[in-house]
Amino acid sequence: MQTKSTIDALYAQVIARNPNEPEFHAAVKEVLESLVPYLENHPEMLEARILDRLVEPERFIHFRVAWVDDHGIVRVNRGFRVQYNSALGPYKGGLRLHPSVNASIIKFLGFEQVFKNALTTLPMGGGKGGSDFDPKGKSDGEIMRFCQAFMSELYRHIGADLDVPAGDIGVGGREIGYLYGYYKKLANLHTQGVLTGKGLHFGGSLVRTQATGYGLVYFVENMAKDRGIDLAGQTAIVSGSGNVAIYAIEKLQHLGVKVVACSDSSGYIIDERGIDLDLLKDLKEVRRERIQAYTQAVPSATFFPGCAGIWTIPCTIALPCATQGELDLEAAHALMKNGVKLVAEGANMPTTLEATAYFLDHDVYFGPGKAANAGGVATSGLEMSQNSLRLSWTFDEVDRQLKAIMNSIYAAAKSAAVTYGDPDNLVLGANIAGFERVAKAMMSEGVI
Ligand code: NDP
Repeated sequence: MQTKSTIDALYAQVIARNPNEPEFHAAVKEVLESLVPYLENHPEMLEARILDRLVEPERFIHFRVAWVDDHGIVRVNRGFRVQYNSALGPYKGGLRLHPSVNASIIKFLGFEQVFKNALTTLPMGGGKGGSDFDPKGKSDGEIMRFCQAFMSELYRHIGADLDVPAGDIGVGGREIGYLYGYYKKLANLHTQGVLTGKGLHFGGSLVRTQATGYGLVYFVENMAKDRGIDLAGQTAIVSGSGNVAIYAIEKLQHLGVKVVACSDSSGYIIDERGIDLDLLKDLKEVRRERIQAYTQAVPSATFFPGCAGIWTIPCTIALPCATQGELDLEAAHALMKNGVKLVAEGANMPTTLEATAYFLDHDVYFGPGKAANAGGVATSGLEMSQNSLRLSWTFDEVDRQLKAIMNSIYAAAKSAAVTYGDPDNLVLGANIAGFERVAKAMMSEGVI
């Protein structure tokens, strides 16, 4: 009881000190609430004020990014980097380019990243960054000039043993290439370990492109096994059609799952025969088209504008892989009514707190993003190892390590859920398992 009131008071303080940051509040609330049973057994963590320290980022950097567009007009964006927690290793986490990016989103993502990175058991702290720059409709030259302007400030704050950014929404191989090139020029150093998600010809790792989507499905395989579900022959829907969604679809298809729908921010398509992945990759990775273009090549497929309707399609597996807050309570009701059995988050916090609670209460087995989508950062960690060794491992070797890490993340989350009395609650399990690693390191490192 006393633990709960301490947590409630801390949460009230987080809201008061971080006004107008709803995404950050939601991320903190979910973690704090699920730690109560653990903290009741570990009063020393409360005494050492570990949580009070964890809700405050170690450093938050906010900077101007000025660049010139193709018409010679000066544009000004906001750049951010949160160096959230370094108890376990250098700050590590992606960069997001999307008009919705603000301090709340960067802090929520950084906070989540701390626990996710801890779950991988690799030596990585948590960070996140990005800008409200909208890459849609920009030419290659504009993307390059933006990335160079962004890096002209960021380079002072990053380093292979300090802070190692990677991609996220709007940042793929092309952007990482431009960012790395400019870092190298400014720092006058060829330190490959300063960024991950690099091209294969300059220090990138095989499997990094596929890692988050593949890792998500390796996690889902563990969930299905525990529930006695044979994945082959199941029907799935996957929201989004970006990096995470595409490679989640690919791995699901390898395992004999039929994926009937995917989306982008304009709407979703249904293809009852199963998504044609070669076509989707060509549309999204090469031609950078809107999802509706899929129906021009496959007339039997249907396009629906708007994103929410994708959750009304009958399926047994649902993988939200687009963005935060995309699966709300209404969507959870629709999925449940249509027979969903497994939901796992490829995106970061795509499921609202209400929808998550609904799944947990109604025996839909739910895989939280900080565990289920950790394959991307885990493989980034493997890229850092290869850069340090100046070696490149084969696809099979990296994929084998990725799978082993995802299996161990599932086992850690499940075991903590069992220990703390709620065996099917992987939200609780992942939060406790991740927190415990970070908190123990913070206790050992003293008050800093
Ligand atoms: P991409 O930019 O490659 O793809 C994002 C996809 O989501 C696109 O299809 C995009 O559509 C869609 N989308 C974006 N915003 C919205 C919105 N408001 N409503 C509906 N759809 C939207 O990003 P990633 O695939 O890399 O990332 C997706 C999610 O996964 C994010 O939450 C990210 O943080 C998370 N993640 C990514 C990792 C990675 O390794 N890439 C690792 C771990 C988590 P459109 O093109 O129309 O914008």
